[in-house]
Parts: sequence; C-alpha cells; structure tokens
Amino acid sequence: MNFADLHLHTNFSDGTYTPEELTGRARQLGLAAVALTDHDTVEGCTRMAAACAAAGLEFIPATELTAEFDDNELHLLGYFVDTGNQTLLTEMVRFQKVRQDRVREMVARLNQLNIPLEADAVFALASCRSPGRPHVARALVMGRFCSSPDEAFERFLKKNRPAWVPKFKISALDAIALIHQAGGLAVMAHPGLNRTDGIIPDLVEAGLDGLECFHTKHPPSTSEHYIRIAKEFNLAITGGSDCHGLSKGKPLIGTVRLPYEYVEQLQARSRSKRSHAPAPRPALRAPH
Ligand code: AMP
Ligand code: ZN
Ligand code: FE
Ligand code: FE
Repeated sequence: MNFADLHLHTNFSDGTYTPEELTGRARQLGLAAVALTDHDTVEGCTRMAAACAAAGLEFIPATELTAEFDDNELHLLGYFVDTGNQTLLTEMVRFQKVRQDRVREMVARLNQLNIPLEADAVFALASCRSPGRPHVARALVMGRFCSSPDEAFERFLKKNRPAWVPKFKISALDAIALIHQAGGLAVMAHPGLNRTDGIIPDLVEAGLDGLECFHTKHPPSTSEHYIRIAKEFNLAITGGSDCHGLSKGKPLIGTVRLPYEYVEQLQARSRSKRSHAPAPRPALRAPH
C-alpha cells in the first residue's frame, strides 16, 4: 500500500530541513505523496515541487495559517493553493510582518529579564520571512541562555510565561475564504490538540473542506473520533506528521502514514471544486 505525509515544515518556516532534504527523506521512506505546509508562506513550494518531480514523488503545495474562532486558536491547512495567488501572497506578507514584530517584542521582554539576546541573532538563525517561537528558543540555546528548546519554552516562551507575546490571528472564517479564493481546500489541522469540536459545525458552514484526523499527537482513539466527525459532515480526511526536521528531537516525517486513497479523495475534491468554481469575469474589452 502507498502512504503519504501531508503535514511538513521546512526552513522556509520553523523546520530545519531544506525542501530538497525533506524530499530526500520522503523518498528514503518510500512515501508516495507529500505536502509542504510551512507557516504563513508558500515560498518553499517551488523548490519542493522540483525536488519531488525529480524524485518521482507526488507533491501538494500547501500552507498552515494560524487562525481564531470564538477566542479559540486553531490552525488551518490550505491544500492545492495557487502559490502565485496575489491576494494570498499579500495577506501572507502581513502575517510574516506580525511574526517579525512579535520576535522583536519577545526579545525585548527577554532583555528586560536581563537576557542580552539580540533580535538580529534570532533573524540570522531563522533566515526566513516566517520566524516564530521555535527560532527564539533555538537562539536562546545557541546563546547558552537555555540548555534546550524545551527549557526555553518552559521558562520563557509558553503561553503566559514572561517572554510570551500574544499573536494577531486572522479569523478562521476569513482564513477559509482566503484559502478558497486561492483555489485551495481548507482543512482544520490537528483538531485533537485544540479540543474545540464545538466550533466544527460553524467552520463547515463557512466552507471547511476537511479534518486532519491523523497527526503525531493524535492517539488512535482521537483519529477515530475525528474520522467519525469527518464522515458525519462529509469532510475530507487528511493526515501528516507535522515534521519540523531536527528541531524537536528525531525527524517525524513518515511516522504518520496516511493511506494513499485519502490523497486521491482530496485530489478529487479539489478537482470538483475547481470545476464548479465561478468562471473568472471576462476582461472588459474596449469598444472598437
Ligand atoms: P509560533 O507560531 O511562533 O507561536 O510557534 C509555534 C510553534 O512552536 C509550533 O511549531 C509549535 O510546535 C512550537 N511549540 C509550541 N509549544 C512548544 C513547546 N512547549 N516546546 C517546543 N515547541 C513548541
Ligand atoms: Zn511549526
Ligand atoms: Fe499547527
Ligand atoms: Fe504544523
């Protein structure tokens, strides 16, 4: 049987592998299909698509957006988005600016705690437009202020710890619309981590297309629970490891193996949605 991993991060956000390294791992593991879901960016997709084509792997361009609904944080995966979609790219630049400002603010708070970390050290280490807390954690380890990223989160970066800074989040309804106008399918990531099943009907109403039923942090009973909900609401079933490379111990790619039939169902949904999408308005022609 063929398997896929549809939740992966590279160094274009907070993963450690390049798109080529990640593709190499996917190939070694014998995966049939992969999706790149970097936070707030699709920049890695071009290189990943090329690497996958060369390796004979199927590739799905995607992203992971941080959103909120009724004060609940949730992550939305956008599969098959058009990576050249101007509205999506413009919004992502805004999300990336929020991330960069947040890093500066977290560093300022650390400085107030007499930890002389510099924002530029974090940006140099992150070397991407979508920096996040994992980069601050790594910079704290590099500067010998903490002995591990976990310690950095525990002491400083977790919610309500002294250097934690809240993050602006797009509303889930706007995020779903943003993914849709870019031709993508909107899938709720790792619902088992959010414990917000009550909002699923509202998101379905707003056009949610799927649920990430299989995830590293979902025990089998949680996967089964979300498969039942997905079937109840006629949602696509997806899954992935949420691999961030070497940043959290051993690389997770391939540890969640989504049966390939779910990839085919996702593709079919994408095709059917695109074929039913309203036709683009004909360009206005000047009278002659
Ligand atoms: P951000 O988007 O900047 O808020 O960072 C979120 C990232 O931090 C996600 O990739 C999480 O997996 C990671 N993260 C959150 N909490 C922890 C933690 N306690 N230890 C390690 N990584 C964490
Ligand atoms: Zn991440
Ligand atoms: Fe996530
Ligand atoms: Fe993720």
